[in-house]
Amino acid sequence: MTSKHPETLALHAGWRRDSATHSVAVPIYQTTSFQFDSAEHAANLFGLKELGNIYTRIMNPTCDALEQRLAALEGGVAALAVGSGQAASAFSVQNLAKAGDNIVASTDLYGGTWNLFANTLRDQGIETRFVDPIDPEAFRRATDDKTRAYYAETLPNPKLIPFPIAEVAAIGRSFGIPLIMDNTAAPLMVRPFDHGAAVVMYSTTKWIGGHGTSIGGIVIDGGNFDWEANPARQPALNTPDPSYHGAVWSQAVKPLGPIAYILKMRVTLLRDLGAAMAPFNAFQFIQGVETLALRMREHSRNALAVANYLASRKDVARVIHPAHHTGIGADRTAKYLPHGQGGLCGFELVGGAEAGRKFIDALKMFYHVANIGDARSLAIHPASTTHSQLTESEQAAAGVTPGYVRLSVGIEHIDDILADLSQALDAAKV
Ligand code: PLP
Repeated sequence: MTSKHPETLALHAGWRRDSATHSVAVPIYQTTSFQFDSAEHAANLFGLKELGNIYTRIMNPTCDALEQRLAALEGGVAALAVGSGQAASAFSVQNLAKAGDNIVASTDLYGGTWNLFANTLRDQGIETRFVDPIDPEAFRRATDDKTRAYYAETLPNPKLIPFPIAEVAAIGRSFGIPLIMDNTAAPLMVRPFDHGAAVVMYSTTKWIGGHGTSIGGIVIDGGNFDWEANPARQPALNTPDPSYHGAVWSQAVKPLGPIAYILKMRVTLLRDLGAAMAPFNAFQFIQGVETLALRMREHSRNALAVANYLASRKDVARVIHPAHHTGIGADRTAKYLPHGQGGLCGFELVGGAEAGRKFIDALKMFYHVANIGDARSLAIHPASTTHSQLTESEQAAAGVTPGYVRLSVGIEHIDDILADLSQALDAAKV
C-alpha cells in the first residue's frame, strides 16, 4: 500500500485478500494452533529465523491484520494487539523496566493507568516518578541512571491540554530514553511518531473500536529509536535474555527490521503473561478502523460545536475543550491539534455538584456511562462517580471540580445533541 492518506490506509493497509479463500473481509481465524509444514519449519518459527503463526496466544492472522493496519496508520513499523488498554500500558513499560528501575510519567493520566503505575508496578519494584507536563523540563529533572522510559497521554482528560510530545521526546532522546505515548483520545489527529515519540499505545476499546462493543489494546513500535546507542540505559534490550536462549534483543532480530522492542514484547511478555487479544475482537476493531477517519471528523466537529454552545450559556461557569484554552494550552492545541480536537469536552456548572447530578439525570439521549469514544454521546459527573472516593482537594488536583461534567460527544446530528444538552441544563437549574 503506497498511499499515505489515512482514509485509504484505514481500508487497505495490512490486508488484500485471504490467500486460501480470496475473502475480501479479514476472516476471524478462530483457531488456537497452526499446522507446521515440516519439522524444520517448526524449528525456524520457534528460533525466530522466520516469522509465522504458531499459537494464538502469541500471534494470530486476524490480530496480525489489525496490527499491520494500525502500525501503517501511525507511521510505525510493527504492532502488538493485546487484551485491553491496561495490558498495553503495562506491557509498554514492563518491556523496558524491571525491579529497581524507574519511569517518569505525566501526572495527567487515565485513573486506571495511574493505579497501575502507582500501585501494581510499584509492587513489582518499578518506581513511577509523576511530573506535571506543563513544564517539559520536569521530565529531565526527574531522570536518573535507572530511568528507562517516559510515559504520557496525548490528550488527557479532564484538563484536555495536549501533551508537549516533541519537547519531552527530545529530552528523552538526549538520555537514550524513549517516550511512550497513550494516543487513545487522538487517533489520526496526532501521530506521536511524527513528533519524536518511540512507542504509541491505544486502548482500542475507545474511538478505534468506536461502537462500545469490545475491550482491547495495542502497542505500536515506531522503529525510530536507537536501542543500542546507550546499552547501559536500556539493559532489557542489550543484555542476554535467559528466557530466550540468551538472545540480546537489539541484535537478535536485526535481519527482520527495527522491531526489537515489539518482537521482544510478543515473544516474552505476551508468551508469559498471556494478555492476548481474541481474534473476534480484532475483527471488531478492524471494522472500527475502516471508518475511523470519518468518525473522528464528526466527533471533532460536534464536540467543538458543543463547546461553543456551552460557552454561550449563563449556567455554565467554564468550558474545557482544546480550542477554548488560553495561554500554554492554546499554544499546544495550535501545535498538536490544528485540524480537529477530538470528541471530548468538559464543563463546569455554576450550580456545583447538585446541578451536576440533576443534569446527568435529566439527559434523555446521552448515555450515562464511564466509557468514552463510542459513536453515541456519553456523559458522566466525575465528582459523584469516578472520583467520588477522593477528597475535594484531591479531586481539584485531578482537575475535577464539584460541578464538572465530562462529555464524550458522539456522531449523532448536532441539533439532537444540542437539544438534549439544552433541556438537561434547563432541568439542572438549582
Ligand atoms: N488509556 C486511556 C486514555 C483510557 O481512557 C483507558 C480507558 O478508559 C485506558 C487507557 C485503559 O483501556 P482499557 O479500558 O481498554 O483497558
